[in-house]
Amino acid sequence: FTDFQLYNEEVPQFLPGSKEIKNLEKALEHYENNCEDIPIVINGKEIRKGQETYQVMPHRKGHKIAKYYYADNATIEEAIRASVEKQKEWDRTPLTKRIEIWERAADLMTHKYRADLLATTMLGQSKTVIQAEIDSGAELIDFVRMNAGYLKQLANDQPLSPQPEITKNSLRFRGLEGFVAAITPFNFTAIGGNLAYTPALMGCSVLWKPSDTAMLSNWTVFKIMREAGLPDGVVNFVPAIGKNFGDTITSSPDLAGINFTGSTATFKTLWKLVGDKIDTYKNYPRLIGECGGKNFHFIHPSANVQTAVAQTIRSAFEYGGQKCSACSRLYVPESLWESQFKGPLIEKAKDLQIGDVRDIGNFYGAVIDENSYQRILGFINEVKNDPECTILAGGNLSNLKGFFVEPTIVQVKDTNKRVIRDEIFGPVLSVYVYKDSDLDKTIDLVRTATKYALTGSVFATDESFLKRALEEFKHAAGNFYINDKSTGAVVGQQPFGGARQSGTNDKAGCPFYLMRFASMQAVKETF
Ligand code: GLU
Repeated sequence: FTDFQLYNEEVPQFLPGSKEIKNLEKALEHYENNCEDIPIVINGKEIRKGQETYQVMPHRKGHKIAKYYYADNATIEEAIRASVEKQKEWDRTPLTKRIEIWERAADLMTHKYRADLLATTMLGQSKTVIQAEIDSGAELIDFVRMNAGYLKQLANDQPLSPQPEITKNSLRFRGLEGFVAAITPFNFTAIGGNLAYTPALMGCSVLWKPSDTAMLSNWTVFKIMREAGLPDGVVNFVPAIGKNFGDTITSSPDLAGINFTGSTATFKTLWKLVGDKIDTYKNYPRLIGECGGKNFHFIHPSANVQTAVAQTIRSAFEYGGQKCSACSRLYVPESLWESQFKGPLIEKAKDLQIGDVRDIGNFYGAVIDENSYQRILGFINEVKNDPECTILAGGNLSNLKGFFVEPTIVQVKDTNKRVIRDEIFGPVLSVYVYKDSDLDKTIDLVRTATKYALTGSVFATDESFLKRALEEFKHAAGNFYINDKSTGAVVGQQPFGGARQSGTNDKAGCPFYLMRFASMQAVKETF
């Protein structure tokens, strides 16, 4: 292969009256007014049976946009059998053929279905147009196109054959034998696409359990991959109740891997199930997890305050703080806090409007569902009753029409508080003001305050401090940013993932990620 297509998709401007906006409006009308009937799909067969469930719009919770069916255990088992059979055949499909399908899919997403991907993500996951575009537009397309490019790059990379006239050595890609279960989150349509289809690109077959609250956009991705020519049965679409799905897949001897993004607790449950049954599997299942975070912005006394404030607001509140990478703990030195930082931070948070995602004046929509709303409410009530915590902005919520939570900033005096230690997954930012003379102690606190290590940012202009920060925070974040927000990793530019309780740090968006779904065979041919 010589033509690696390694470039990032451009993000359109969405100017009023533009072609992009017109297409998007049409798609939004369509999906708002038609409740899509989404089947389970096993080996190309569409199945509409099992417990019926609906997806609603989080910002208008009475409005249904999709109906779908939970696969029962027998149906999940049927999907496993079909996948295992299919894998044997799919694994023989030449890499060139697979790459062609992925490139066709990326073109379809770019030119034909971009508005559908955006509209289904906006309505179903309550994303504003720009947040939908950087997810189900640019990022999804990047994953599809660039992973195909990475496969070309990897396939070229052969080990040495010092005496080619006598022996030839090669490494063959084999998909993981059996099936891979992709369990994917609501917060990024692109993650659903990447987790379900990258194993398939590498020759695996997949049972895809999409998130209940991202069903419509994930179904759109599934249909596009089918139209691009992916054979039936390579990826099977299996909505299910989490516990049933987890129990059933881990009970199959053919489980080859779990590709997971979601909560730390669920990942651990799956890991334990696999551990308990380790003697029953044909292969050691590969466990790939991207889990929670409690990400920091650390402000050094030398920081450019304007940049730090602006980037903190974006990181903490874009998409209502529902990115795994969102900043939710902020450390500011006393020398900057009262005089320069506090006022603009509060003012900017108060300026953010929230509401229906179709209104472009709104910065974010609703949080995803009642569960999420109640969890965030629990944190906010706790801080309201705690004299050591002060709410500096926001703190109001309403779930009458949709699940709305104001951008909320809480100052804590004690860094052991749950609000600055535990993951909230909502628009709540905790601030701790440190004494400048306690710089070293605070660095240590930032590193050790939580069990997570997903993303983190340092804001400073002092060059020697920045050099030091690279070492001090080496294990505190899988994605580390200097003078930039902790969100917004771009495929191929900042491969994404975290360590410690944040996951297995397998870095989505780079060639190494693909290798998690390949089982290599070394072949020596003697002539
Ligand atoms: N990759 C996204 C970012 O850097 C976050 C992904 C996630 O929320 O899981 O903001």
